[in-house]
Amino acid sequence: MLLEQQRKKIIYTAKKSQEMGLIPLTFGNFSLRDKETGYICITPSGMDYQELKPEDIVVVDADCNVIDGERKFSIETPMHCMVFRNRPDVNGICHTHSVFATAWASTNNCLPAVVAELVALVGGTVDTAPYRPMGSVELAEVVTETLKDKYAVLMANHGLLAVGPDIETAFVNSVIVEEGAKTTYYASNIGKVNIIPEEDCKMLRQWVIEKYGQK
Ligand code: 13P
Ligand code: ZN
Repeated sequence: MLLEQQRKKIIYTAKKSQEMGLIPLTFGNFSLRDKETGYICITPSGMDYQELKPEDIVVVDADCNVIDGERKFSIETPMHCMVFRNRPDVNGICHTHSVFATAWASTNNCLPAVVAELVALVGGTVDTAPYRPMGSVELAEVVTETLKDKYAVLMANHGLLAVGPDIETAFVNSVIVEEGAKTTYYASNIGKVNIIPEEDCKMLRQWVIEKYGQK
């Protein structure tokens, strides 16, 4: 089967995201770009993640042409393809409808740089793309534009898109943004939140890139 291991990785990530409560039912979609072929593996539209088999994952090229797979691809495939085309450094995308990220996105506020690990992994403030209908080219455009060279973007009244150099990192970023949104929500109910200054955000991000973990 074409890109079997990569297709399995998508299923693993989708199931894990569901187990962690980041996606209600089938709302969300996951993709990765294979570095060798440039092909994109993406979840099918509206299928129960727990039932997914590798052949259900659709393989498309960068322009959304189907290369392999019988299923109808995710309605957000044009958005994933547009982000991949715009970001050569990105090879994994997780789009979730996690509750706290979506709540922030529904106020049109950005998610401020409040939680240290959010700043460390995603770089600081997470901006919100304006509302556009699900699955539309307009949504793909505003998400790609708002994401710029960052690692996450909130989608107004809809959810979150997190990216990374691989699907594992995109998944971690989707968890960290949700946790950051949750903590910031609670903090703002307790009192005035303390925003990490931009200079400190840069330092923290650089420190994580150079020193954090098993380098
Ligand atoms: P799909 O099931 O087609 O991926 O749609 C879910 C979704 O999150 C749309 O934004
Ligand atoms: Zn969605």
